[in-house]
Amino acid sequence: PPGGWENVMAYDSDNVFAQILRGEIPCDRVYEDDHVLAFNDIHPQAPTHVLAVPKEAYTSMEDFTQNASDATISALFRAVGQIARDLGLAETGYRILANTGDDGGQEVPHLHIHIFGGRLLGPMLSKGA
Ligand code: 5GP
Repeated sequence: PPGGWENVMAYDSDNVFAQILRGEIPCDRVYEDDHVLAFNDIHPQAPTHVLAVPKEAYTSMEDFTQNASDATISALFRAVGQIARDLGLAETGYRILANTGDDGGQEVPHLHIHIFGGRLLGPMLSKGA
C-alpha cells in the first residue's frame, strides 16, 4: 500500500477493549447482542457516556469501513440507536463520536462509538484543542 506496510496498523489484541470483550477485565455493561457490546465509559464526560464496540477486531473507523461486512456495520449502527433509546436519550437528544487515528485523538485501538447525553453538550469541538 502507499507508504508501505509499516503504516498499516495491526490489531493489538492486548488493547483494553479486547480484554473487556474477552471478559478479562470488568465493564459496566449497558447493552449486548451477537455483534456489539456497550458499556459505560470509565471517565464519563456527560451524565450518559457509553462506548459501543463491535465484537470483531477492528482498530478504528478506518479499518471497520474498509474491512467489516455490511451486516456487521449495520449491526453496530442499529445498536447505537437502540442504546440511545434504551437509555432515554432519543427524546432529549444525544451525540455520537468516533475518534479516529492521531488527529482524531483515538486512544484505544479498537473501534468504539462514544454516545453522550443527559445534558446540553455544547460546541461540537472544544476550543483551543
Ligand atoms: P478514545 O480517546 O480512544 O476515543 O476513547 C477511549 C475512551 O475509553 C476514553 O473515554 C476512556 O475514558 C475510556 N476507557 C479507557 N480505558 C477504559 C476501561 O478500562 N474501561 C472503560 N469502561 N472505559 C475505558
